[in-house]
Amino acid sequence: MRRSTVKRLERTMLLLMFLVLALSTWLSWHGSADGFAWPWDDAARVPRQRPVRAVSGKTVGIIAGHMGYDSGAVCEDGLQETQITQAVARLLAERLTQAGATVEVLAEKDARLHGYRADALISLHADSCIDASGYKAARSDRSTQPLLEDKFLRCLYRAYGEKSGLSQHLNSISHDMTQYYAFNQIDPATPAVILELGFIGGDRQVLTTRQDRLAWGVSEGILCFLAD
Ligand SMILES: [Zn+2]
Repeated sequence: MRRSTVKRLERTMLLLMFLVLALSTWLSWHGSADGFAWPWDDAARVPRQRPVRAVSGKTVGIIAGHMGYDSGAVCEDGLQETQITQAVARLLAERLTQAGATVEVLAEKDARLHGYRADALISLHADSCIDASGYKAARSDRSTQPLLEDKFLRCLYRAYGEKSGLSQHLNSISHDMTQYYAFNQIDPATPAVILELGFIGGDRQVLTTRQDRLAWGVSEGILCFLAD
C-alpha cells in the first residue's frame, strides 16, 4: 500500500472513532430520559423519575382507595381492590417525590380530607372482578373549577392510556365517581379527580403485575397537569 493511502486510512479511522465516541456520549446523556430507548432496551421498561423543576414545591395528595376503611371489591380467590390501590399509590408517591413534589398518601375517609389543600388530589380505585376491561377517570359533577379539573383529566387520560396500554371504559362512569364524598370535603380550590385503574376481572394481569407502569402513567398525568 502506498504511504499516502495508509495516512488517509488512518485519518478516516480516527474520524470514525471520534464520531462513535461523540454519539455514545450523547446517547448515554439522553439515554435514560423519558421517551428515548436504546434499540435493545426492554420496551416494557419503566424509566426512573428525574426531578421536574415545575413540580418542585408543589403538593400532591393520593387517596389509596379503601385503605384503612374496607377492602373494596373482593374476587373469588380473595384478591382485594385495596391491595392494588395501595401498591400503585406507594409507587406513585415514590415517583412524584423523585420528581420533587411533596406527597401525602391518604386513607379512604381520612380525617385530613376535611378542608384538604393541595395542588392536586387523586383517588385511586380499581373496578369490580367482572370480565370487563378499561379505565376511566372523573371529577366532581359540581366542580367549582371545571376547566382546571378537565385539564387534569385530559392529562391523565392521555398519559395513563398510553403507559397502561388499557382502553377507556367511559360508559361505566357512575355517580359513585362524580359524587365521590371526598370532592365535597376537600378545600374547593384543590383540583381533584378519581381514577378507576382498570377492572380486576379483565385487567387483572396488568393490575397485579405491571403496577410500576400504572404508577408511571398516573404520575405522568399529574406531572402534565402540574407543569403549567
Ligand atoms: Zn373502589
